Amino acid sequence: MDVTRILEDLNDAQRTAVTAPPAPLLVIAGAGSGKTRVLTHRAAWLIDVEGVSPQSLLAVTFTNKAAAEMRGRIESLLGMPVNHLWIGTFHGLAHRLLRRHWQEAGLPQNFQIIDSDDQQRLIKRLLKNLELDESRWVPREIQYFINAQKDEGLRPQHIDDDNDPQRRQFIALYKSYQDVCERGGLVDFAELLLRAHELWRDNPELLAHYQARFRHLLVDEFQDTNAIQYAWLRLLAGRDGVPFAVGDDDQSIYRWRGARVEHIYRFQKDFPKASVVKLEQNYRSTATILKAANAVIANNGSRMGKNLWTEGAQGEPIRIYSAYNERDEADFIVGRLRDWSDQGNPRADAAVLYRSNAQSRVLEEALINAGLPYRVYGGLRFFERAEIKDALAYLRLISNRDDDSSFERVINRPTRGVGARSVESMRAYARANSCSMWRAAGAIASDELGGRAASSVLAFMTLIERMARETQGLELHYQVDHAIQASGLIEFFRKEKGERGETKIENLEELVSAAKGFSADPAEEMSALDAFLSHAALEAGEGQADAWEDCVQLMTMHSAKGLEFPLVFLCGLEDGLFPHQRSISDPAGLEEERRLCYVGITRAKKILYVTHAEQRRLHGMDSFSQPSRFIAEIPDELVEEVRPRVHVSRPVHTITRPRGRLSSGISPGAELGIRLGQRVRHGKFGDGVILNCEGQGAHARVEVNFETAGTKWLVLGYANLDLM
Ligand code: ATP
Ligand code: MG
Repeated sequence: MDVTRILEDLNDAQRTAVTAPPAPLLVIAGAGSGKTRVLTHRAAWLIDVEGVSPQSLLAVTFTNKAAAEMRGRIESLLGMPVNHLWIGTFHGLAHRLLRRHWQEAGLPQNFQIIDSDDQQRLIKRLLKNLELDESRWVPREIQYFINAQKDEGLRPQHIDDDNDPQRRQFIALYKSYQDVCERGGLVDFAELLLRAHELWRDNPELLAHYQARFRHLLVDEFQDTNAIQYAWLRLLAGRDGVPFAVGDDDQSIYRWRGARVEHIYRFQKDFPKASVVKLEQNYRSTATILKAANAVIANNGSRMGKNLWTEGAQGEPIRIYSAYNERDEADFIVGRLRDWSDQGNPRADAAVLYRSNAQSRVLEEALINAGLPYRVYGGLRFFERAEIKDALAYLRLISNRDDDSSFERVINRPTRGVGARSVESMRAYARANSCSMWRAAGAIASDELGGRAASSVLAFMTLIERMARETQGLELHYQVDHAIQASGLIEFFRKEKGERGETKIENLEELVSAAKGFSADPAEEMSALDAFLSHAALEAGEGQADAWEDCVQLMTMHSAKGLEFPLVFLCGLEDGLFPHQRSISDPAGLEEERRLCYVGITRAKKILYVTHAEQRRLHGMDSFSQPSRFIAEIPDELVEEVRPRVHVSRPVHTITRPRGRLSSGISPGAELGIRLGQRVRHGKFGDGVILNCEGQGAHARVEVNFETAGTKWLVLGYANLDLM
């Protein structure tokens, strides 16, 4: 028993929470006040001092990264590994339950998880089958509708159509979508939670078992639970459970995904004996950073209101940089990062946070040019890349022939002469006979399909059967390797010209390494392949290969929740980007954006930079914007404006592009011709990308990063660059 170790470095309020008697407890406190610390110490306290078995603890948090960190902290407090501790995300824990109780949950044993992209494809296919026009029935909206219903715990039969024909159609689509998923054994993210809830609700004995087992429920980031997650927790807590929830109403940033900050009030009603602990001392940030965060969030109307203070030093002022454009912004950030790293600081202590994933590309380019290693969390994740999903689709079919979305994905990939018409006939047959595409293909290949199509379809089916036979009993990474070879994918991408094909092959090879490094939880009763496929869907992007290299961290502000870094950049603070265009005219939406800004600012421990660009090209569109209103909400005395470096040259926006050839015959104000990031070809230097431009008219010059010749400045009038 090591009471001192667990209680040292806790203040009085934190200690009260950690050592509280076994009754429901809610910790409500601002950013960086030690909520997560209290949660991990509580777990250690229960195990080590109260003698609670690790098996009767269930800890939930928001990301896999946070879960891994939490486990590490608990283990280091206890000085031993705790293998039987259930700790994870809501989705991860729900998945674990469903794997254990697939029968009771009404799922096939080898059910597959589909991600948001698969889900949308599935909906598109459904619309086609029902001959509904995609422009009227927008797949994204239907997807949103379905997920929102599931997040509220509703099945199609529970939803009232309010006599609205549009709504009726949405409900009908939800129903058909559900049928397709049932048939294929497919489970989307929202379904994981809903099923896990129904599993307990409809199996009282099972519920009783888990209620008796998990008495202590520890929940981090409680403000961001949605209806179904909360309902699930309540079921589990039952009458005798001891929920311990920590959260911050000012950091609720998932309203758009159904999160309800009201659960904080609900908790106190649902567990009338609950005590509430408030933590008010911030240990993370300098006084300057904390004041800025407090000042920004004070502009929100609906708050519980908290008084957060620190004993920490004043610290450095918040530095604001106004960039000309997104390239200049990226260069500025990379310059500071390089200084940081040159001064001997760990690169992983620096984070660049942005509002939207698409902002990362320009930052990544600048980092690559500067030779600074970095890591992107989220964004286009490894497991979401098209070629990886192709390979996974083969593997899924090996595991489950009835997986329609995988079947359709690869029936003609690589191309094997199965046209859209043949696929359409299979779909029609599948629909008419309520069977999977695989069965449909088998049934009609020999008579309904034309000769060539028929033999291609049969060859495909034989291929899958053969792959299944040949990979049986092999170690996971040999299975994966076999699948990418035998499927013909490697061959297929090899024929694709240039770098892109090569990158895809490299990624496929990386998939084999990922499989090699993957170790399934031995407690789970599923094949290594199924475990790997679930892992790919659930933990996409969180296990990148270079995890151990010291690199700069790039992520959205959403995914930075709960984390902290000595050096933080908040970039793209422009009205329209952050706060996001959608929310500017919606007061509740604007408040949510402001909470996100509060989350962003409070990630910083020592140094905070805020940057914005006058002009930005995003999603292929140029826009000119005002600095974000959130910048103005930071009190002047906390801020220092960074003066632009003298050698920065204002880029030219006025170069014309006569017949696809860059020329210096420019009339200022003419159509925007070349742009930063534009690919060009030079007679001698080959292909490259425009990094910078300056000067006008006959003096216009561009800086081009050539693939082989390196970076060069060229005078446009002489360079004869071809646009590509
Ligand atoms: P967030 O709202 O961002 O999730 P949080 O409330 O969960 O923040 P923690 O991450 O637990 O806060 O703690 C913030 C930082 O303060 C951490 O580095 C933690 O180690 C440190 N800290 C917390 N409590 C104390 C304490 N009593 N003494 C010293 N350091 C502390
Ligand atoms: Mg926390």
